[in-house]
Amino acid sequence: MNIRLSTGSLIPIEMHKVRIVQATALPPVAQRLAAIEAAGYNTFLLRTRDVFLDMLTDSGTNAMSDNQLAAMMVSDDAYAGGESFYKLEAAVQEVLGYKYAVPVHQGRAAEHLLAKIFCKPGDTVVMNYHFTTTKAHFEIAGAKVVEAHSPQALQTESSEQFKGNIDLDWLQRVIDTEGAAKVPFVRMEATTNLIGGQPFAMANLKAARAICAKHGIPLVIDCSLISENAYFIKSREAAYADVSIAAIIREMMDQADLIYLSGRKSTCVRGGLIATSNDAYYEQLKAWLPVYEGFLTYGGMSSKEVEAMAVGLREMCDYEVASSSADLIQFFVQRMIDRGVPAVTPAGGLAGHVDAMRFLPHIPQTEYPAGALAAAIYIASGVRPMERGTVSMDRDAAGNDVPSDLELCRFAVPRRVYSMAHMEYVVDRLAWLHAHQELVGGLKFYHEPPVLRFFTGKMEALGGWGAKLAAAFEADFGPAC
Ligand SMILES: *Cc1c(COP(=O)(O)O)cnc(C)c1O
Repeated sequence: MNIRLSTGSLIPIEMHKVRIVQATALPPVAQRLAAIEAAGYNTFLLRTRDVFLDMLTDSGTNAMSDNQLAAMMVSDDAYAGGESFYKLEAAVQEVLGYKYAVPVHQGRAAEHLLAKIFCKPGDTVVMNYHFTTTKAHFEIAGAKVVEAHSPQALQTESSEQFKGNIDLDWLQRVIDTEGAAKVPFVRMEATTNLIGGQPFAMANLKAARAICAKHGIPLVIDCSLISENAYFIKSREAAYADVSIAAIIREMMDQADLIYLSGRKSTCVRGGLIATSNDAYYEQLKAWLPVYEGFLTYGGMSSKEVEAMAVGLREMCDYEVASSSADLIQFFVQRMIDRGVPAVTPAGGLAGHVDAMRFLPHIPQTEYPAGALAAAIYIASGVRPMERGTVSMDRDAAGNDVPSDLELCRFAVPRRVYSMAHMEYVVDRLAWLHAHQELVGGLKFYHEPPVLRFFTGKMEALGGWGAKLAAAFEADFGPAC
């Protein structure tokens, strides 16, 4: 939540107290250089003992509430029929308004089941934008993914408040060209992750819904980051200024035939969920769930996490929770802009993003500027971000790199974990690196898995720039920093 100071400026104030802390340490720059070399310049392959602030992802790294932890203590460990499930089902019915709750072990497991049930070779899934695991699952099932994104989605500097909108004409065109029967569903992703955590508007969701309804096509919402999208609707869409987060979420749910989510994000647990009121979809999910995930009442999750998800679903409807990381990200992005760091605007949910093509204009996409920036800022700060650019795109059938629309370096801001001082530190080291941008060079793969290569692929720094960057940093800040 933002609070106004007597000077007139806003600060993202924490609406919670910290009662359990985890110590973190700043490894010296020489240790960071050795660690990133060993990790093949891939921040996924760092160990957390070598990381000061872990901003890789908000997935499974959010702070849990006292009520979530308390709920975990009373969870019911049963293979079948456990009471914890019925609490989750009640929360799904109350908060989301759906009849059926299908737990899965995490978000991508939901995508796997959807792909299995809905997608056939020759199908086309239309969406506002893809997510890595989403695209992989639908394509493995033989479907094509079309991203009918808004015209502003790929502009990293923008004042458009709803860059996550789907382009309605484009959606209509795909349906007309492919034929409605070839479109198994339309997917709207809340707080669209890969374009910088950008929301869609309620008006856009409703218009997409109307098009789907006209053609008998189901609408699916990826609700992983639903509470932030609801918060942005409340703060940016005039008609919703006085509507509660809970009511906005319910209205969003009313537009969809089925939703799924990674519980690791908005609900601050480690698990996933599919929810629907459609009997036919539920029958199919019910058939496959025990094959891939686990019995209907746990779906691969621990009963503790099932319990905590029920609480998390309710808590994400609190204004203070829904706004917690969004307002800190807004502060983070504004401070980056103040210091001349090319941040993606407007600020989104989940993370602050830096446009690597503007930060490192001398590095071509074939040498992975976003990957280079992620590794370079780790060397210069001990902060671990994630590459969201061409490294995150797999090669095409002919073995060619597929240049990503955007080259973003993502600094995830897990919910209720980091402070304003942490953000100031990251901004300062980014500003230093920006002033020394010529020290950063490109990357080249030497180990490359065939699918989702960004997770475990290894690269080398072309011309050995890592060591030169570390030396320049040490000259300015000393060996201990
Ligand atoms: C994280 C995420 C997923 C995948 O969920 P996991 O729990 O990591 O498997 C899918 N969609 C979106 C939008 C996400 O942010």
